[in-house]
Amino acid sequence: MNDTAPKMTGPELDIDKVRSDFPILQRTVHGKPLVYFDTAASAQRPLPVIEAVDNFYRNHNANIHRGVHTLSQEATDHHEQARAKVAGFINAPSDQEIVFTRGATESINLVAYSFLRPRLQPGDEILITWMEHHSNIVPWQFLCEETGASLKVVPMNQRGELEMDALADMLTERVKLLGVVQVSNALGTVNPVAEICAMARKKEIPVLVDGAQATPHQAVDVQALGCDFYCFSGHKMYGPTGIGVLWGRYEHLQAMTPYQGGGEMIRHVTFEKSEFNDAPGKFEAGTPNIAGAIGLGAAVDYLQGLGMDKVAAWEARLLAYGTERLAQVEGFRMIGTAANKAGVMSFVLGDIHANDVGTLVDLHGVAIRTGHHCAMPVVQYFGLPATARASLGIYNTMEEIDTLAEALEKTNAMF
Ligand code: PMP
Repeated sequence: MNDTAPKMTGPELDIDKVRSDFPILQRTVHGKPLVYFDTAASAQRPLPVIEAVDNFYRNHNANIHRGVHTLSQEATDHHEQARAKVAGFINAPSDQEIVFTRGATESINLVAYSFLRPRLQPGDEILITWMEHHSNIVPWQFLCEETGASLKVVPMNQRGELEMDALADMLTERVKLLGVVQVSNALGTVNPVAEICAMARKKEIPVLVDGAQATPHQAVDVQALGCDFYCFSGHKMYGPTGIGVLWGRYEHLQAMTPYQGGGEMIRHVTFEKSEFNDAPGKFEAGTPNIAGAIGLGAAVDYLQGLGMDKVAAWEARLLAYGTERLAQVEGFRMIGTAANKAGVMSFVLGDIHANDVGTLVDLHGVAIRTGHHCAMPVVQYFGLPATARASLGIYNTMEEIDTLAEALEKTNAMF
């Protein structure tokens, strides 16, 4: 565990200490203190992450795996330590089940092309849910076009909760993979993923869980979830961009063929034929994002230093406060009111276009996201062109929610 991670002073996050770890929170926007409510798009980075990347480039930079010289060995050690940290973070049974990718999107594409494509026949089905991010929709559409399989979508209700009875009915023997998001980036819904995996497992249907919005906010245990694949991105959990993870059961990873060829993923090459490395190496062709992996390892240390239970508890308090406080703003309507929600507040404000809301609150230093949040079917479901979204992170405070509420009230006054 990282010594620089803030220590807990009690049952709650030491929020002042946490905030002091994020240098960007010192800056102003339009002359106002930055209030960052766009963590679901990309989180800010704490000093230990920035320093880990800086330290790598200053003191250990070299290519990994291939070198006998000291720097290369140090770089390799740091890179592989990061893999072990990530494995521990999601309770993977083995480091060898952790494949470093560019992010959740690449992880899903890897499963699509290496795992599922060779198994698909015309008439097969891929099952996803209505609240998936485009990253968990489009790769499957490509496969369906290529193979004659079809994409089926589990419906949701007006609160943004999955229709579990429909899901049960749709898990037929035609389904060759179920892709499900653990926490919806557009609605904040936390899906009952362990229950869903158990339902699929009874039918021997493999499950890929998109954990991009889960790993920053709650403890994840892939063994307890009972999934087959789990993916996430470093930049959503306070780590660098350009690094992410695919976890897969080792028997799946070993049975899969690589989808990119190149250096490092091979054991032996002749012009006639090449033999591949074991997983995870065979999926990590070319020089990887070494500094990114090391930064992700530092982000894992940081979050574990805080305690994921405390992170989840703090964000739950913020969400409860935000839900109540923002509801007092005239015209405010929350989109996504599931009973089990994480720190995402998507909303509309009267009939003011979301982009205008985003632009106007930015003048008060408040960063929110507007649009379809890469989940167009969700906004279409609610009959909206777009929503505004305030998403929460470990550094947010109740006072910042007040600032957002006041900025929204001032926005209202302009229309
Ligand atoms: N899934 C979900 C739920 C997400 O929120 C995102 C990012 N918005 C992704 C997948 C894709 O992540 P990335 O762009 O880091 O690959």
